[in-house]
Amino acid sequence: MMESTTMSEDLRRRLPAVNTLLGHSLLAGDRGDVGDRVLTRAVRETLTAWRARLGTEGAALPDEATLIAEVRAAVGRQRCRRARPVFNLTGTVIHTNLGRSPLGERAIEAVVDAARHPVALEYALETGGRGDRDNLVEELLIELTGAEAATVVNNNAAAVLLALTALGAGREAIISRGEMIEIGGAFRMPDVMTAAGCRLVEVGATNRTHARDFRGALSEQSGLIVKAHTSNYHVEGFTASVPETELAAIAHGHGIPFMIDLGSGALTDFRALGLPHEVRPSEAIAAGADLVTFSGDKLLGGPQAGIVVGRRELISRLKQHPLKRALRCDKLILAALEATLSVYRDSEAPARELPTLAMLTRAERDIVTQAERLLPALGRAVAGIAECAVRACRSQLGSGSLPVDRLDSAALVLTSPSGRELGRLERALRQLPRPVIGRVHDGALWLDLRCLASADDEQVFVDQLEFLPDAWQAAT
Ligand SMILES: *Cc1c(COP(=O)(O)O)cnc(C)c1O
Repeated sequence: MMESTTMSEDLRRRLPAVNTLLGHSLLAGDRGDVGDRVLTRAVRETLTAWRARLGTEGAALPDEATLIAEVRAAVGRQRCRRARPVFNLTGTVIHTNLGRSPLGERAIEAVVDAARHPVALEYALETGGRGDRDNLVEELLIELTGAEAATVVNNNAAAVLLALTALGAGREAIISRGEMIEIGGAFRMPDVMTAAGCRLVEVGATNRTHARDFRGALSEQSGLIVKAHTSNYHVEGFTASVPETELAAIAHGHGIPFMIDLGSGALTDFRALGLPHEVRPSEAIAAGADLVTFSGDKLLGGPQAGIVVGRRELISRLKQHPLKRALRCDKLILAALEATLSVYRDSEAPARELPTLAMLTRAERDIVTQAERLLPALGRAVAGIAECAVRACRSQLGSGSLPVDRLDSAALVLTSPSGRELGRLERALRQLPRPVIGRVHDGALWLDLRCLASADDEQVFVDQLEFLPDAWQAAT
């Protein structure tokens, strides 16, 4: 024990000093390219890693060429943004961990403009007086949902929290037991209600809730009735829930508001796009909801945002609540949201302009043809590593939208003879300049091509396959 500690200490001492390596003639060019700071950090990182490695049994000193190569790799890693684009070939179109909806071109232009210049964010250009940042999108939201007023916050979880806090703090929020939902990332309806200072009153049973359950729960303490769209699961069989119009009537008969958390926020008729029906905010408003909350970056296809539409008097209570100030959106998000909403107002076919809708409505035939087109190139890139084939698969919408519905799609499927190499292959694909994220399923790595929808993306995908053999070597 003693012996090996001294030995590794001895090896460590024979590593070059930071300044020695930094001044190495082979790194002079790199220093010119990236500057002192970046290079110093890379040298430190490399030497620290070697100090640790030399503590393990049997480790030997690296030669100079290895150290130089590792410093260069560390420089590369530093210069590479963490928030860089990836290929989402997971088969989940609206993938929360991959940033949900990509924006349409109109929204991208709006974001770039707003980033570069001052924007009349809270400034009324007509009068020169102070404005309200919600004004940027409120009229559009009113037009698209038929509501009287609207406000926007950071995400839908924030929208629900704000609405419950402003309308229900210190009072009771009544909700069906079948809707005590948890959405990924620790958003649980009961917890949000507690955080909002509401007392939760659950009514009915998990599978069945009736109008009489809600009526029986009404009291002096009642603050509001809440309905949550059970967007990420589906109860089948002996079920019953109370129609929205009836819940609205029960709430209004008691003089309290009725709120619906819709989650997904589809702004166009999904059946007309050949997709399963998804309740729109306009339908929820028409059914009598006083407030409706939904996300900006799910089926709507815009930036991350939480939108609340509904009765003017209630929206104005939300706007005046201190939480609104803490949860508000910045100018980039509002610019992107305005541009995305304007697509729904202006376009006969929003799916042509909004990538999320375009991906969801992509024809299966088109994806199969693409898979067949890409098969030879991928086959060459993985020759000797894995087998490659085109297989039918089914994409899902994601982010809890329409959980039981699947879209027919096609995948490039990689299998390795022993099956053991799949993990390594996955890692190699993630090491490519634009990381490729697939899904391991049934002993194979599936690359669902539904989201590889643009010709430019396809070209990048093909071009970078030449790096795959090297990435495979490095991904031991
Ligand atoms: C997704 C979702 C939320 C959370 O929305 P975020 O925009 O992710 O904060 C809340 N409620 C429902 C029903 C949802 O589907």
